[in-house]
Order: sequence, then structure tokens, then C-alpha cells
Amino acid sequence: MTIAIAIYLFILGLACGSFYNVVGLRVPAKQSVVHPPSHCTSCGTQLRRRDLVPVLSYVLSKGKCRHCGAGVSFVYPLGELLTGLLFAGMYLRFGFTLDMLMGLLLVSLSVIITVSDLKYQLIPNTILLAFLPFLAVLRVYHHDLPLWEYLLGALVGGGVIVLVILLSRGGMGLGDAKLLAVLGLVVGYKLILIALFLACLVGTLIGGPLLALRIVKRKQPIPFGPFLALGTLLAYCYGDQLLNSYLSLIS
Ligand SMILES: [Zn+2]
Repeated sequence: MTIAIAIYLFILGLACGSFYNVVGLRVPAKQSVVHPPSHCTSCGTQLRRRDLVPVLSYVLSKGKCRHCGAGVSFVYPLGELLTGLLFAGMYLRFGFTLDMLMGLLLVSLSVIITVSDLKYQLIPNTILLAFLPFLAVLRVYHHDLPLWEYLLGALVGGGVIVLVILLSRGGMGLGDAKLLAVLGLVVGYKLILIALFLACLVGTLIGGPLLALRIVKRKQPIPFGPFLALGTLLAYCYGDQLLNSYLSLIS
């Protein structure tokens, strides 16, 4: 049964991921997410049903538009696959619970802002504001810690990034601050600090080689939103264990 539900959530994630790609690409450009229907960005040909199967369509068409042969970004199937895997992962981690539901919301927000931040170096307010009421209501309804810890999480998350912006004059944007404030509201102040630490760690591990190999230039801003989201997902799933093992290490 567990496997069946996990597979179901994986497929649900594939389908949702396909939609999140569209949202992440269109909302920052102020385009409607439903109109016009999905089309090739090169020749404008409207995609047919067989072109819209997550991941599979991309593999079968070898990543090219069926009409003009223009390359299709691998970000699309990657976003779909990632959403599918993370949806299933949240179920395997939390079971069929409200924590899983919160996890699915976090994954959804993460995928959308990752697409948007990679493409436009932008985390749209619209996206954050669309998720905020759902995240907040669910958090008020279901919380393991006292509510002030979550409110403090929003302050700490947003505050730390604002501090970084003031001190570094660039590098990060207000979008990052607002994102981490929203994420802090979900995970609380302890886990948002762990999330930030993990984001910096992964950012350095990935950004370092990219700089060294000159794939990105030193002055080029690296979108930090995806790392913040990834750090938060890790902290949400494993932060308590990380915190406990760290505390037992130093005590
Ligand atoms: Zn085309």
C-alpha cells in the first residue's frame, strides 16, 4: 500500500511539476498561466496532448520541438521529475499526514521559485503571496512548537537576509529575504537557521566549482532562492535529527 501511494504521489508530482514550470516561467513575465496554451517558444506551435506527458514527451522527442526542431530546455523534465520525486519523498518521510501536506506545499513553492529565479533572477511577490495564506492557515491549525517560534522564524529568516543585503550591498535580493521569511514561518526559527546553513553549504559546494571552472563569472549573480528552498526542504525533513545529533555532539 505504501508503495502504491508513493507511486501515486510521484505521478501527481510529475503532473504538478509540469504546471509549476509554466507558473514559474509565466508569472514573473506577467503572463496568464492558462492562456495561451503551452506552445513551442521558438515557432509558437501549440503543443498537442502527446507533447504534454511529463518527462516522457521530452525523452521521446529527444528534447526537440516536433515541428521546428528547436531544443527544449532540460529544465522542464528536470522540474517535473524533481517534483515527482519530492512529492513521493514527503509521503515516505511523513506518511499520510498534515506534515506531508505542508511538505507538498513547500515542494510546490520551491519548484516554482527555482524555475523563476533561474530564468529571471526573480522571486515574484505574487507567488509568495499565493502560498502564504495556505501555509499560514495550515501552520496555525497544525503545529508541534508554540506559534511564536514560527513567527520568530519569519522574522529571523527575513532579517538575516536583509542584514546580508545591507552588509554585502548586492549578492542577494529582497526576494530572497521575503522567501526566507515565508519559509521561516513554516519551519520555525531554529530550523530556518539550519536551512540557511545548509543553503550556504550546498551553495558553496555547487557554486565553488562553477566559479573555478569559469562556468559562471565572479560578478555574475548566482540565484540563491533555489538553495534557500533546498536548504529548507532538507531542514524540514531532517532538521530535528541534525539539531539533536549536533547538540549531543557538543554536550
Ligand atoms: Zn517549435
